[in-house]
Amino acid sequence: MSSYDIIIIGSGPGGYVAAIRCAQLGLKTVIIEKYNTLGGTCLNVGCIPSKALLDSSEHFHNATHNFEEHGIELKGLKANITQMVNRKNEVVAQTSAGIKYLMDKNKVDVINGVGSFVDKNTVKVVDNDGKETLLTSKNIIIATGSKPNFFPGMEPDKKRIITSTEALSMTEIPKKMLVIGGGVIGLELGSVFGRLGTQIEVIEFATTIIPTMDLTLGKELTRVLKKEGFKFNLEHRVQKVENKGKSVVLTALNKKGEEVTFEADYCLVAVGRKPYTVGLNLEAAGVTLNNRGQIDVNDHLQTNVPNIYALGDVVRGAMLAHKAEEEGVFAAEHIAGQKPHINYNLIPGVVYTWPEVASVGKTEEELKAAGAEYKVGSFPIKALGRARASMDTAGLIKILADKNTDEVLGVHMIAPRAADLIMEAVVAMEYRASAEDIARICHPHPTYSEGIKEAALDATEGRALHV
Ligand code: FAD
Ligand code: NAD
Repeated sequence: MSSYDIIIIGSGPGGYVAAIRCAQLGLKTVIIEKYNTLGGTCLNVGCIPSKALLDSSEHFHNATHNFEEHGIELKGLKANITQMVNRKNEVVAQTSAGIKYLMDKNKVDVINGVGSFVDKNTVKVVDNDGKETLLTSKNIIIATGSKPNFFPGMEPDKKRIITSTEALSMTEIPKKMLVIGGGVIGLELGSVFGRLGTQIEVIEFATTIIPTMDLTLGKELTRVLKKEGFKFNLEHRVQKVENKGKSVVLTALNKKGEEVTFEADYCLVAVGRKPYTVGLNLEAAGVTLNNRGQIDVNDHLQTNVPNIYALGDVVRGAMLAHKAEEEGVFAAEHIAGQKPHINYNLIPGVVYTWPEVASVGKTEEELKAAGAEYKVGSFPIKALGRARASMDTAGLIKILADKNTDEVLGVHMIAPRAADLIMEAVVAMEYRASAEDIARICHPHPTYSEGIKEAALDATEGRALHV
């Protein structure tokens, strides 16, 4: 039996970052991963491959739709999905190899196999050949992530009724794709195929797409995506999806309760993800789950068994790679006796459509529900010189500030490069800036960031300069 200071189960952004931080803190660390590649959902079938395909499809879309106006003439343009997927696979392989390099550099032992608890200090690893290894440690971190969720009647067969994982490795460009769920995955992967020419039809249960974000964003994104050819069916309850061989047929109830059917080549099921604890044998360690299937943790990320920590998608909170990473650092530092802190209110959320959608802090709906006194500043992207130069004129930036103190409470935007722009808001809010603080900072011209300054000016007594 090998002995360690810390055993980490799962090598996604939560697990591998925890491993690096543990090693930096001088702890003898081992990480267990059931697949042969490191990096978890994010690197293998999530953030990185989806962004690789989003970039490829965006280049194609620009070439087919915008180049001519820029004065670039091309003939015979064709999307080669096989090459796009091959390039994506190469990006994934390089990134995953980078994690292996980081493990080696930090002297973290890596064991491939399924980890399961024997007791609260012992983990058994079974590799692909059935070989068993026993490991013991004072502390253990569970970072086993999540898997795609689905509801009865929409079970993915992984052939025509697919999840994000299959969508990332398609060998053909579908003529038509149904997407169940107008959330992050549905709209990002819908964008990939929509840009390549697939007719995208979204079936969404809620009254808007991206329903958990500020409602202004859903409205604006609907407008943008409709222009790109998306069709939206809101307030639809999916009853069943059937693989008919060469097509899929989806039956749903619309908001009037009438039965409606949709037919397409494929159906992407994107209705959220569920925490993954299968095979961990948590009972042997006495670790409990909550009623949502998440591992229950306290504010220090400790489970009900204090030497066992859990983090990332398998616990409460946003299912985001950067949230998992922060928690990885947090757990490592707490184990090492430090007093780390995470500001969960300031975890930004991004949807990588084009333009991108990004958000941090409270939404207007949350402020209303809390009875907060707030004011709103907003600025349309089309009023920026930079946006006209690049022909990216859709979108807006919205700042919510406390009506009495002017403190920024939330920032929501649809803008070119919003994923990067949102960091100005995160930094400002971390230091509890007022809208006027942002408004008085000199922003470079011409940039999209001027939109943040203008929205802040608008929140500060409605004195935006360029509208
Ligand atoms: P995971 O990344 O899921 O890693 C868990 C690992 O544990 C897996 O490798 C799994 O094999 C391993 N494991 C599980 N059980 C065992 C066991 N018993 N023994 C050994 N190993 C085990 N988030 C963002 O922030 N930005 C994005 O752009 C983004 N895009 C996404 C796109 C898609 C299509 C998807 C599906 C997700 C995306 N996410 C994105 C979400 C992000 O991938 C997750 O939030 C993140 O990966 C969670 O990290 P984690 O470490 O908690 O778990
Ligand atoms: P999501 O929660 O973002 O969206 C799910 C959507 O499905 C919601 O709009 C919901 O109203 C809808 N829905 C739920 N049940 C339905 C039903 N029965 N019929 C029709 N619609 C239904 O989930 P997702 O898009 O599957 O993504 C899963 C997770 O992965 C998210 O938590 C997200 O944080 C993460 N992710 C993040 C990124 C990113 O950060 N850019 C990208 C992809 C995934």
